[in-house]
This record gives sequence, C-alpha cells and structure tokens, in this order.
Amino acid sequence: MLKNDMLDQWDRENFFHPSTHLAEFARGNLPNRVITGGTNCHIEDRDGTRLLDAFAGLYCVNVGYGRQDIAEAIAAQAKELAYYHAYVGHGTEASITLSKMILDRAPEHMSKVYFGMSGSDANETNIKLVWYYNNILGRPEKKKIISRWRGYHGSGLMTGSLTGLELFHKKFDLPLSQVIHTEAPYYFRRADTAMSEADFVAHCAAELEALIAEEGADTIAAFIGEPVLGTGGIVPPPAGYWEAIQAVLAKHDILLIADEVVTGFGRLGSMFGSEHYGLKPDLITIAKGLTSAYAPLSGSIVSDKMWKVLEQGTDENGPIGHGWTYSAHPIGAAAGVANLKLIDELNLVQQAGENGAYLNKVMAEAVGAHAHVGDVRGEGMLCAVEFVKDRNSRTFFDASEKVGARVAAALLEHGVIARAMPQGDILGFAPPFCLTTAEADEIADKTAKAVAAVL
Ligand code: PLP
Repeated sequence: MLKNDMLDQWDRENFFHPSTHLAEFARGNLPNRVITGGTNCHIEDRDGTRLLDAFAGLYCVNVGYGRQDIAEAIAAQAKELAYYHAYVGHGTEASITLSKMILDRAPEHMSKVYFGMSGSDANETNIKLVWYYNNILGRPEKKKIISRWRGYHGSGLMTGSLTGLELFHKKFDLPLSQVIHTEAPYYFRRADTAMSEADFVAHCAAELEALIAEEGADTIAAFIGEPVLGTGGIVPPPAGYWEAIQAVLAKHDILLIADEVVTGFGRLGSMFGSEHYGLKPDLITIAKGLTSAYAPLSGSIVSDKMWKVLEQGTDENGPIGHGWTYSAHPIGAAAGVANLKLIDELNLVQQAGENGAYLNKVMAEAVGAHAHVGDVRGEGMLCAVEFVKDRNSRTFFDASEKVGARVAAALLEHGVIARAMPQGDILGFAPPFCLTTAEADEIADKTAKAVAAVL
C-alpha cells in the first residue's frame, strides 16, 4: 500500500482529472479524494470516512456499491476469456445474452443493439447511423441534428456539440456546424411567470417548428433529447411535452434519438424513460445503468425501421465501416448480464420508483419552504433543489456565487454527497436504487441543515 503523502504527490504531478480546475488542483487548493471502497449507498475514503453517496457516482452505480454477484461475474469472465472482438460476426456468450436481455426490456419496436464503451461514443455512433440511414435513402442533405439547450449528450466533438451547456463548448471551438439547439422544456426557469405549463409546452413545440422552418425540414435528420434533462438541471418535462415534440418530428420526417444514458434501466421507476413518457424513438442511447458502472459499456438500440435501411446499406455498399476495438467487451457484457439479473431479482426498478418518490416528498418537506429555494422537483430516483435569490420576484443567483457548490460542500460536512449541477444554483440527487427510506430521510434532513448554514 502506498503511503498517503506519496499518493498525493503522484496525484498532483501525474493525473489529469476530468472536469477539474487544473491550476487550483496543482496548487493544492482543491482537495484530492482517494476512494477505497463502497457498500450499497455508501462509499469510504482512505481515511476511513464513510459517505452516503446521493449521486451514485455520476448517476451510474444504480444497484449500489459492493455487489458481489457482479464482481464474481466479471472475475469469471476475465479468467475464462478477457477479450475477443465483435467484428465480422464474432461474439461471446455474455455479449449475445446481453443483447437479448436488453431487447427483452426495450420498447417493442426496437430491433438490435450496437455496443460501445461510454455514453459519448454511443451517441457518436447514433449520429453516424442517422447520417448513413439518410445517405442510403438518397437524402444526403438531410443531416442536421437538433438538440436542446441544457441537454447533455457527452464530451466528444459531435456529442460535446449536441450538449447544450456553454461550459462544454467554451474554448473548444464547439458546437460543430451540423448541430442546432432549441428551447429546453424547463418550465421553472424558461417560462414567463404568467405562462401555464400547457402554454409553455405549446411554446416549445412552436419554437421547434420555427427552427425547422428556418433551416428547412429537408436538411434536418434527427432530434436528440434526454427523457428528463439531467446534467442541465434534472428537469422532468412538463405534461404533454413529448407528445407535442413527437408530433412535430413525425410531421417533418425527423428521427428521434432518446438519450437514456441516465434514465435507462430503471432510474425513473420504469425500465426506460421512453416507456415512462410514451416516446417512440428510432434510436436509444444506453450506458451507465447498463452495468451500474461495474465496467464501462454502452449501447445504441436501433429500431426496426432503421435496421431495415442499415441492412439495405450493407447489401449496396458492403460491411458497415464503424467499429470499436472494445465493442461488446466480454467483461463489460458479463457485468451487464449480472447487473440486469440483479435489478430483476431485487425488484430495483420498483424500489427506484417508490423510494425515489419518497425522497422527493421528504426533500420538498425539508427545504421547500426556505426563502432561497425556488423549486424542488424530480422523477423516480432523481431529485433537484433549485436555489433563488428571491422567491416572490423569481430572481436568480449569479453563477459566480456558486450557491450549489457551497451547499454541496456544507452537505459533505454532514457526510452526504450531492452534485452541484453545472448551472451553478442547482443541487442534484440521484442515489442508487437500493436507497432506503431511512437514508432518504437522512439526505433530506442534512440538506435542510446545509441550506440553512449557507443561505
Ligand atoms: N448522455 C447523457 C444523458 C449523460 O448524462 C451522459 C453522461 O453523464 C452522457 C451521455 C455521456 O456519457 P459518458 O460520460 O459515459 O460518455
């Protein structure tokens, strides 16, 4: 075991951490945290401090930490066959079984799964499939992708462009020109105070129509959206939103990509967000909850309609020229199979729905009346608290005031991890599905203490 001071020194000298203020970290002004273990909803650091992880890592450790069934499945696969590729018809029992298990759980009109490693690469795959599809159909001009402001779809060149958050564009020369953004279904923040939810939904649909008219429907290939906006603020859509959006897309022959990296496999209390909100997507992006992050694995689930055209494409052009070395990695696939079995055995989708609703209820009771809390919202095992400068006039804090980060830091002092969302004034919660009602009470009580200490 390395000595702590050696580990600290190596960390600051060698490790380029994602999403980190690099200069502050190098100067030692940001603490480094070395995590050593975890069980269910708790993790432990090298000093033995136990923390209740109310964000499940990056909303991905859905079944909770320390699941021996998954660890054993990974070990068994690694011993038997750590790797073989999936090109030209190759596979393993784990990857074939997992594709069947995913399709058994996905909406009925979905047909095949393409495996990747991360949510970002799965979305890159999706955009390539959309472009390929339109080329095969003889519509080479129909290529632009519509995404929403505040959507999060990854950190690649295309996926960073689809992401509608300035932080992920700044100084990276993004977004790329094929991407256009439309209104976010963020009623609390974007609607005029006098506007009803129904009027705001009509406004979102009208904005989309106007954008399509301006660009030309024959130039627009697809619309991508998360069933519930995640990183952009944990914002469930207003009632009727997806119905209104899908009607516009259908009218203009625009494909729908449901990015279910966060919502897939149970986080909303339904197996998929598509099922939860009545979406009929042409592609579904899956990652995080597919393996509960026990190993990196993602997927693009392709609809019957698109699959037929992809097959036609290979008849006309030969094998599809898209593949990753680690597509359907056997260890990831073994983790996925064990993870989905565990979700079924422990009835975790139902628990996510029930205990998530409980968390939202106790959170609203604990902080909803605070003078600087403007909104407590959520769906399933997702919950957010949005802070405001003034409730009555609905004025907002400046991002530079870092209210979310300050409350998150105060909450950490009480032993609970929540996430200050990038907007700056939102505290996000997305615990593992095995969260108990006692743990939900603890999160809400301690959040109230943290809010009172900061605001
Ligand atoms: N899509 C959504 C909705 C996400 O929340 C994320 C990550 O948080 C991604 C895509 C990107 O996934 P990854 O970080 O695995 O590349």
